[in-house]
Amino acid sequence: MNLRNKDSYQTHLTDFLKYDILVICPKCSGKAVVHSGHFPIAPEDVHAVKLICSTCGYNKRLSETPETFPSGSPHKSATGRHYVLGGEIDPFFFAPLWLKTDFEQHTLWAYNYEHLDFLRRLVEAKHRERNLQKPVNKSLGSRLPKWMTSQKHRDLILKKLDELRNG
Ligand SMILES: [Zn+2]
Repeated sequence: MNLRNKDSYQTHLTDFLKYDILVICPKCSGKAVVHSGHFPIAPEDVHAVKLICSTCGYNKRLSETPETFPSGSPHKSATGRHYVLGGEIDPFFFAPLWLKTDFEQHTLWAYNYEHLDFLRRLVEAKHRERNLQKPVNKSLGSRLPKWMTSQKHRDLILKKLDELRNG
């Protein structure tokens, strides 16, 4: 699979696709989930990927959706479908993510709470690294864009991540 790697924020995104992705329901705008299972999706698994809303009962399988995709994005997968990693939408149905908030000209977003906690740990670790002078793990902070790990943004970013978690 040829994943576009625009920035390091995307490096570990697929790790979080094994958990349910929280999205905005296309029907009622409530909190819905996308079950993805594992990634990449094998052709025989397309029917297992679904978007479900417990509020309004919306329930759609990936196999029921047309094989279309937002213009200018995606990666063609083994299934012939296109998936989008990043871009504040779920990779399969392209529904807007539930865990999303503006930060200056950027957008903080996460697929699920596991992803959110991961981001929080990285931002905190980056800060600890800085205090230690000698980096323990050079690769750690470099997985995030600079605006997320910069010293001056740190407290605000952590606050925003907590707001998303508790919101
Ligand atoms: Zn709904």
